[in-house]
Amino acid sequence: MEIIVRRETKEDYRRVEEITREAFGYTERIERGGIGCPYEHWMVNELRKRDGVLELSLVAVVDNEIVGHVICSKAKVKKDDNELPVLNLGPISVLPKYQKMGIGKALIKELISNAKKLGFGAFLFFGRPEYYPQFGFVEAETFGVSDSEGYNYPSFMGMELIPGYLDCVKGGRFIESDIYNDDLNRDAVLMFDKSFSEEKYMRRCYELAIGAGKKGYDTFGAILVYDGKILEEAENTADYKKRIFGHAEFNLVHKCANKYSDEILENAVLYTSCAPCERCLGAIASLGVHNVVCGVSYKEFCKLLPFDYQAVDREGLLKQLGIQMTLKESVLEDEGMHVFEWWGGEYHPLEEMIAEMDEVKRNQK
Ligand SMILES: [Zn+2]
Repeated sequence: MEIIVRRETKEDYRRVEEITREAFGYTERIERGGIGCPYEHWMVNELRKRDGVLELSLVAVVDNEIVGHVICSKAKVKKDDNELPVLNLGPISVLPKYQKMGIGKALIKELISNAKKLGFGAFLFFGRPEYYPQFGFVEAETFGVSDSEGYNYPSFMGMELIPGYLDCVKGGRFIESDIYNDDLNRDAVLMFDKSFSEEKYMRRCYELAIGAGKKGYDTFGAILVYDGKILEEAENTADYKKRIFGHAEFNLVHKCANKYSDEILENAVLYTSCAPCERCLGAIASLGVHNVVCGVSYKEFCKLLPFDYQAVDREGLLKQLGIQMTLKESVLEDEGMHVFEWWGGEYHPLEEMIAEMDEVKRNQK
C-alpha cells in the first residue's frame, strides 16, 4: 500500500472535515447532542481561519483517496512577561478502516520534518503517551514546562526541533489557542456539525432517487429521520400511464402514517432529494412533520421543467392555514441536480437536459 503525504488544498477541505468527524467516531453522539465540545472536525475548519499553521496541514492519500489528515495550531509558552511560540500538534485523524496501517505514522514523520524545515522551535501537545514516544516525543516535564494550570502528566508531551529552544521559558506554562475552549465555542460547533448530518441524510435520499431512476421511475427519494436514526425510506414509484401518483414523499408519508406518534413526527426531520410538490406538501403537513430539508430547490428544479420558476412563499401559505413547517432548501444542490441524469432509467448528462428544456421554453414564447 503506497501512502502519499502532501499539503492540504482548498479542494480537500470538506472531505478532510468528514474524515475527521468519522475518525473520532462521534457521529451518533453528536446527533443526539450528548457529548462535550469542541469537536475535532469543527476545530480543523476553524484552524484554517485562525491559529492554524496551514503549511503544516497535511493529508495522507491512498489510491487517490484522502484517508488521513494532520494539522498544527499556534500555541505559546508563557513565563512571566516572556512568550515563546510553539506548535500544538493536532487534531490528527485517520479513517477507521485505514487505522493501524501506518498512515498516522507517515503523517507525523512528514509533519516533524516539515516543521523543522520551516524553522519552528518546538512541539507541545496532549496525546496518547503509548503512541508518540516512537517519534521522539517526550514528557513536557523534561523541558520544565507545565500545562496552563501548572500540572504535568504523561499525556502532555513535547519535542524540541531546535535544541535548547525551550530553555528560556523553563518553569513556564503552555497556552493553547482558545479554539480549545469548550464553553466559548459550543454554539458554533453545534451549528457547524448540523451541516454534516444534513449532507449525510441527503446523500441517502440521492441514492434512493438514483435507485428509483435505474428502475425506470423518476429520480426522487425521501427519508424520515428521528433522534439520529432513519425511521423510513421511500422512492418514487409514479406511473403516468396508470395515473399512479407515487411521489417519494407521498410514499414516505404512507409508510409513516398510523405508525409513529405525533410526538416523534413533530420532532422528526423529513429529508427529500428535491423540494416537494403541492400535493406532497399537503401530505407531509397532514402527517404532522414540521421540519423538511430539501436537496434541490424549487428554483433549481425548474431548470428541468418546461416552464419558468415562479416564487411562491410555501411556508407563509402553510402558516396562514395554521400549519407550522420549516422548509430548508439547497443541501448539496449541485450533487442533487446530477441525480436527475438517471431520470426514467436512461442516463442523460444534466447539461443536455437543461439545454433541451431551455429550447422548449424558448419555443413557447
Ligand atoms: Zn410530490
